[in-house]
Amino acid sequence: MAATLDRLGRPVRDLRISVTDRCNFRCVYCMPREVYGLDHPFLPRSEILSFEEIARVARAFHGLGVRKLRLTGGEPLLRRDLERLVAMLAELDDVDVTLTTNGALLARKARLLADAGLSRVTVSIDSLDDGVFRAMNDVDVPVERVLEGIDAAAAAGLPVKVNTVVKRGLNDDGILALAEHFRGTGHVLRFIEFMDVGHTNGWRLDDVVPAAEIVARIDAVHPLEPVEPGYRGETARRWRYADGAGEIGVIASVTQPFCGDCTRARLSADGKLYTCLFATTGRDLRPLLREGAGDDELLGHLAQAWRIRDDRYSELRTSATGELPKVEMSYIGG
Ligand code: SAM
Repeated sequence: MAATLDRLGRPVRDLRISVTDRCNFRCVYCMPREVYGLDHPFLPRSEILSFEEIARVARAFHGLGVRKLRLTGGEPLLRRDLERLVAMLAELDDVDVTLTTNGALLARKARLLADAGLSRVTVSIDSLDDGVFRAMNDVDVPVERVLEGIDAAAAAGLPVKVNTVVKRGLNDDGILALAEHFRGTGHVLRFIEFMDVGHTNGWRLDDVVPAAEIVARIDAVHPLEPVEPGYRGETARRWRYADGAGEIGVIASVTQPFCGDCTRARLSADGKLYTCLFATTGRDLRPLLREGAGDDELLGHLAQAWRIRDDRYSELRTSATGELPKVEMSYIGG
């Protein structure tokens, strides 16, 4: 079957699935406590897709060429029995099922997830300095807990990537310590430029530490060499340590946008389909799923949504687009 391409000639390869809009962290740059307080109206259970509904959408996307499924949120490990969903998704042919987590609950879940067929895991960790880490997650979780989660994942046989969002003045003085901690462990550390996702995190261009600066700071101490991209649509630009101690990546969505190669679709926990992380609106799939549409109808609907896609927000970003009422990262999934 010929690949379904969008208006800019991009195929769909990855589906990011937000399994919940709730999180046990209140990261100051993502779910600030002032906005996500006790009275925040999270999605009611009845509106959240069941595992069966999620698996159905994933199967349809698989029919369109998707080969990578990433579970995210919110915090995906808050969703009870997540390993059951992993097992359902891992049944699809030739598919990688991955997970992005803050790691706080990973130590107790890693083995179950690996046994269910998870391919690998990405753990977010913004600082190794316990004080900075606690201040950033704003729920007082110690960094040690996340490091234990990483160790448990590795012990369960899961390849681990580590994501660090860098915000100037908040955690950029810890870049080198993070690089040195993960050098030689086999875990690939990736630095993410602070992005203007959503509209509650008070983003300013001045807060972004450009990827080139991050690389330069590490390179000055541990020389780095560029690595060719592994595949089309890879978000991270890769660098390896000249002394063979492994690799790092930088995700330069602000300073070096990669929309031209974006092969990602996103499904929110309540069943809306988004074709860009910076979207303002999505397509509601729930009526189709809950009102008896057949598999062909669902597939046709997704194919049509992909064909008309022309998103390239990061290439069009200006200071004015920062003000758009974009959906929040915790809702659409990181
Ligand atoms: N709770 C999970 C976690 O912490 O990994 C999954 C969801 S979280 C929204 C996914 C990733 O998005 C995390 O690594 C988080 O640091 C990152 N993130 C959140 N807001 C961001 C922003 N404004 N710019 C860049 N990355 C951001």
